[in-house]
Amino acid sequence: MRVIKTIIEARKIRWQLSGSVGFVPTMGYLHEGHLTLVRRAKKENSIVAVSIFVNPTQFGPSEDLKKYPRDLNRDLELLEREKTDIVFMPSEQEMYPSKFNSWVDVEKVTERLEGASRPGHFRGVATICTKLFNIIQPARAYFGQKDAQQVVVIKKMVADLNMDLEIVVVPTVRESDGLAMSSRNIYLNTEERKAAPILFKALSLARQLWQDGEQNADKICGEMTALIQKEPLASIDYISIADADTLEELKEVSHQPALVSSAVRIGRTKLIDNITLG
Ligand code: AMP
Repeated sequence: MRVIKTIIEARKIRWQLSGSVGFVPTMGYLHEGHLTLVRRAKKENSIVAVSIFVNPTQFGPSEDLKKYPRDLNRDLELLEREKTDIVFMPSEQEMYPSKFNSWVDVEKVTERLEGASRPGHFRGVATICTKLFNIIQPARAYFGQKDAQQVVVIKKMVADLNMDLEIVVVPTVRESDGLAMSSRNIYLNTEERKAAPILFKALSLARQLWQDGEQNADKICGEMTALIQKEPLASIDYISIADADTLEELKEVSHQPALVSSAVRIGRTKLIDNITLG
């Protein structure tokens, strides 16, 4: 496994490689969710590259950039075990030298959900992904369905800007009680961790209602809200039922794939999760 920290080194290595590169961008503090992406990339490509970079431009001023969990040694051990070929872990200075002035803005699909509660977040995500794609030049890049809006934004960006790679989406990996794995789950204390599966329970309730014939989005959201409100540690940021491609809110869930997504705060930790219906 080659661990590289500079863009020059990354380019040199990239020139020497033939065969497809599968790329997994991450912010580190790796868990089974990340490793599932790495395994999938390994299976489908001759070389697997993983980046570890806590991207400052996707964090708002009052967000958790400073305290975002980091454990590079553990991450490298886990990636070594997965037989990762290349780990790219640049410094902030390497990715954003002073006088950095170019941004990638994807419109419309970034306006709602996470985009509404985190202004500038997706501009940071789109910009760093563009830079990483340009540096690594992968045939395929792997993203988790856990961050559903991110997937929509990256797919749109790749299509709109004619980027020459395939975006592969990997299903959400969950703990045994349904909680979606996330680096941020480490913030939850014991009581909060017990309360956290309420989010997936609410999404599962939506699926059940829909399978039982309920198509009215407001009714489904209402039932989800009532369930989450029974959990005293939880407060709802948003619950949405939207077209899975355009992210426009739906009134009825019928044929087209609908993304049911929600952000819930458990204590001070914000959790996001989603399922797709149809
Ligand atoms: P992050 O390090 O949080 O930026 O995540 C890096 C990649 O891993 C993103 O594509 C995430 O969507 C994906 N990911 C994070 N958690 C999970 C999970 N529980 N299941 C599947 N993919 C995940």
